[in-house]
Amino acid sequence: MSETVYDKLAVIGCGLIGSSVIRAAREAGAAGEITVADSSPAHRARIAELGLADEVFADPAEAAAGADLVLLAVPVLSMGSAAAAAAPALGAGATVTDVGSVKGQVAEALLAACPDDVHVIPGHPIAGTEQSGPDAGFAELFRNRWTILTPSDRSDAGYRQAVERLGRFWTALGANVEEMDARHHDLVLAITSHLPHLIAYNIVGTAADLEEVTQAEVMKYSAGGFRDFTRIAASDPTMWRDVFLTNKDAVLEVLGRFSEDLQALSRAIRWGEGDKLFELFSRTREIRRGIISLGQESAEPNFGRDRGKH
Ligand code: NAP
Repeated sequence: MSETVYDKLAVIGCGLIGSSVIRAAREAGAAGEITVADSSPAHRARIAELGLADEVFADPAEAAAGADLVLLAVPVLSMGSAAAAAAPALGAGATVTDVGSVKGQVAEALLAACPDDVHVIPGHPIAGTEQSGPDAGFAELFRNRWTILTPSDRSDAGYRQAVERLGRFWTALGANVEEMDARHHDLVLAITSHLPHLIAYNIVGTAADLEEVTQAEVMKYSAGGFRDFTRIAASDPTMWRDVFLTNKDAVLEVLGRFSEDLQALSRAIRWGEGDKLFELFSRTREIRRGIISLGQESAEPNFGRDRGKH
C-alpha cells in the first residue's frame, strides 16, 4: 500500500478505464472515498453489484461534491458536457483530469467547462483493451505503461503542485508518468494508435466486402495476420468515432504520409524490387524488437486478473 494521494476520488464514466482506475487506486490505497457517476443505468447497477464505489450516481455533480480529484473517463466528445455537469459541485483547489485518447480538443473543452479556481490537468493512460464496460476493467492495466499528462503552461506553485500530485497518483497505480504538450501528444498518438486502428477497421471492412472471398473463408483462414486486425477492429465504435473526429488534423497528416509510403510499396511489388521490400521489412523488425526490449509488447499485461472482485 502506498500513501493516500486523494481523500475523495470521483470517477465520471466507469467503463474499462474508469473501473480500472478505481480497482488500481483501491489496491494501492491511493484514494480514500471513491464515488462514481455513469449515464448508463445498467452500468450503475453493475458497479453497485461489484462494490466498486462507495456511492454511485447518475448526476456527475453529486459524485464530484467534495472530491479533491475528479477523473473523467467518458468518450472524448462527451468530456466537455461531463465536466460542465460536474462543474457546479467543484470545490476551489480540486483537480479535474481525464483519460481521453485525444488531448488538444479535450483540454479546450475542460478549460471552458471548469471554474478558474480548479486545476485542470488533462491526461491519457496509454493502456487499454478492445473491451468496454465496468466488468472489463482490471487493477493491473496501467502497470509499467505510460500515462501522459498534458498540463497547461500555468507555472504558479499551486498548479505545479497539483500536477506533481496527480503524477504521484498515477505512479501509485503502477504507471510511468510523462508530461507532454497536448498537440504533440495528438501527433504521436495519431501514428502509434489512431492510424493502426483506422487500418484495422479498414482491412476488416475490405475483407468483409470482398466478393470473391466468402465470409466463412475470412473466419476460417484468419490466422494469417488478419486475426490480430479483427481484435483491434472490435474496439468500441463510440470511442473510436470520437477519436477520429477530434484528432482530425493529426490523423489526416499521418494518413497522408502513410498513403505515400503504401504507394511506394505497391510500386516496389509491381516492379519486383525485392531489395526495397527486404530493407523495409528488416527495419520494421528492429522496431518490433525495440518495443519488446522496452517491455511494451502486449496490450494487456498478462498479470493475474482480478475481474469481478471489486
Ligand atoms: P467505456 O468502457 O465505454 O466506458 C465509458 C463509460 O462512461 C460507460 O459506462 C458509458 O456509458 C459512460 N458514459 C458515457 N457518456 C457519459 C456521460 N456523459 N456521463 C457519464 N457517463 C458516461 O469506455 P472506455 O474504454 O473506458 O473509454 C473511456 C475513455 O478512455 C475514452 O475517452 C477513451 O478515449 C479513453 N481511453 C480508452 C482506452 C481503451 O483502450 N479503451 C485507452 C486509453 C484511454 P454507455 O456505455 O451507456 O455510453
